[in-house]
Amino acid sequence: MTPETSLTPKPLLYVSGVTVHFDGFRALNALSLFLEEGEMRAIIGPNGAGKTTMMDVITGKTRPGSGDVFFRGDTDLTKLDEAAIAQLGIGRKFQKPTVFESHTVYDNLVLAIAGPRSPWRVLSTRLSPRQRERIEEILVTIKMMQHRDRLAGDLSHGQKQWLEIGMLLAQEPALLLVDEPVAGMTDAETEETAILLREINKTRSVVVVEHDMTFVRALGVKVTVLHEGSVLAEGPLDTVSADDRVIEVYLGR
Ligand code: ADP
Ligand code: MG
Repeated sequence: MTPETSLTPKPLLYVSGVTVHFDGFRALNALSLFLEEGEMRAIIGPNGAGKTTMMDVITGKTRPGSGDVFFRGDTDLTKLDEAAIAQLGIGRKFQKPTVFESHTVYDNLVLAIAGPRSPWRVLSTRLSPRQRERIEEILVTIKMMQHRDRLAGDLSHGQKQWLEIGMLLAQEPALLLVDEPVAGMTDAETEETAILLREINKTRSVVVVEHDMTFVRALGVKVTVLHEGSVLAEGPLDTVSADDRVIEVYLGR
C-alpha cells in the first residue's frame, strides 16, 4: 500500500459539489460530503436546509444540475436510475412508514425478502431455509419476534417504523438512508431506535437525518450540519453545538 492510499481511504460515498435548483432556488449549493465505509453519520439542520433533497439525489430520485455522487470509488450514482441504485445496495427509509397494513409483521418481511413481485404470488411461494433464517434474524434485530403474527396495521407508529427498517434490512443494503425516523415516536421508542440503528451500523453504513437532539446524542456519531444546501459544520455533536454559526441558524431558535 502506498502512503497516499493509507492516508486517504476510499469513501463509501462521496457527494461532490452537488447543486440542485428548483425554479431558480438552490436547494443544494455545491454540497460536498464524504462517508466512510462502515460509518454512521447524523445530518441535522433547519427545515429547508436540503437534507431530504440530498437523499433524493443519492437515491436517484432527483438529478442534480451539477456535481456527482460517487459510491464505492468510481460508480457515479447521478448517471443511474432509482432501481439501479437500490440494486447497488443503497436502501432508503422515508419519513412516513409504508408497511402493508393488512398483512402480518412476518408476511411484510416475506414480501420484502422475496423482492418486488405481486403479494399473493409471493406469499404462496416457499421461502428457502436461508430466507426463513434471515427473517428470524431480522425479527430479533428489530425486536418484533413476539409481534410476528400481528397485523402491521395494528402496530404502534414506532413499531411500524421498526418493521419498515426490518423490511429494508431484508434487501441487505450496504448503505441505509433514514429520514427523520423518530418523528412522532415516544421517548422510549426514540431510545430504542437509537439502539437499533447502532446495532445495524455494526454491519452497515448509515446516514440518518434527525431533529431530535437527544436521539442524535444517543447515536454518538459524527454530525454534519446542513444550511442553505451546504455543509455549515461537521464534527462531534459537542463541537458543532458549540459553533456560533450553528447556534445562530439552528440550535438557538
Ligand atoms: P429539509 O429536508 O432539510 O427540510 P428539503 O430538502 O426538503 O429540506 O428542501 C430544501 C428546499 O428545497 C426547501 O426550500 C424546499 O421547499 C425546496 N424543495 C424541495 N423539494 C422541492 C421540489 N420538488 N420542488 C420545489 N422545491 C422543492
Ligand atoms: Mg426533510
